[in-house]
Amino acid sequence: MSIKVRIPVPLQKLTGNQVEVECNGEDIKDLVDNLEKKYPGIKARLCDENGNLRRFINLFVNDKDIRFLEGDKTQLKDGDEVSIIPAIAGGADFREDQIERYSRQIILPEVGGMGQRRLLNAKVLIIGCGGLGSPCAYYLAGAGIGKIGLVDSDVVELNNLQRQIVHFTKDIGRQKVESAKEKLESINPDVEVVTYPLRLTSENIMDIIEEYDMVVDGSDNFPTRYLVNDACVMSNKPFSHAGILRFGGQATTIIPHQGPCYRCLFAEPPPPGMVPSCQEAGILGAVAGVLGVIQATEVLKYILGKGELLLGKLLIFDALEMSFRKLTVQRNNNCSVCSDRPTITELINYEQFCGVRSKTCQVGGGN
Ligand SMILES: [Zn+2]
Repeated sequence: MSIKVRIPVPLQKLTGNQVEVECNGEDIKDLVDNLEKKYPGIKARLCDENGNLRRFINLFVNDKDIRFLEGDKTQLKDGDEVSIIPAIAGGADFREDQIERYSRQIILPEVGGMGQRRLLNAKVLIIGCGGLGSPCAYYLAGAGIGKIGLVDSDVVELNNLQRQIVHFTKDIGRQKVESAKEKLESINPDVEVVTYPLRLTSENIMDIIEEYDMVVDGSDNFPTRYLVNDACVMSNKPFSHAGILRFGGQATTIIPHQGPCYRCLFAEPPPPGMVPSCQEAGILGAVAGVLGVIQATEVLKYILGKGELLLGKLLIFDALEMSFRKLTVQRNNNCSVCSDRPTITELINYEQFCGVRSKTCQVGGGN
């Protein structure tokens, strides 16, 4: 009895680079056991610890998917051809370590091989490596976002460590972007981390965001928030907004011209001094974590094209009540940047707009 087994690229290392091998077995289960005897390690690739076939790998007997036959009890006969077909996307197989690394999300029907490929091809810019940017960056790196840009001009200070979890005590005094890059690369070497140790300005922001599919605003001041909003609207770049203070926070996702922008929501910043900063009013570190992780979740959903984004919704989180409220936000027909007749068509001086003297403004810093 002889059965031809076609081996996919990721498993060919185990068969000495053979594309097709001869084996035998009464049924699929038997065949897998016999393959394991000839090519040790192959069973662990095909089956989980309980011996069930992994869900991102399909087997075909001749041209029939065994899930529609009798699964691993599907009988085999002499001359049958069995094909092992792993999840792939874009014509490129995943490496074995990638299949393992991302297995817990590849098995989600909303992700699958196609979704994982989208994540690996995605480019996300995170503005601010602080309380919001830290947890956000961790989860985006873990999920395998192919390229992560980090913008922050600050160095790590002792009072950051209570919430800015991408930085460690040993990093005090280092550039935040360098400290963050080191952690993200050690979580996942698949991720390319690009650092921008600079203050975002009207002059440099367009060139930077152009490179990316989506932007995460984790900044800590109003000039940067309006700068990011206007630049993203003008360049049609989706972005995730979040803000935090004391025990609460808010988040929304903005896709320019499909929903309201930040200026539709808040046409002008509050006068300087009216809304205290985290430095003045305090912030519970875990609250920053909640909002930063919500931002990461929105980015992943956007890239996967799954679920409902916080588009036209402002999510309000109150940790003391432990409540989430979702408010509906409309586009403002008179919005100065995203309406049909915008009055702001190029980037302005945002420090002046926000009434902040440039010397005291921490543009590019993390919340
Ligand atoms: Zn608007």
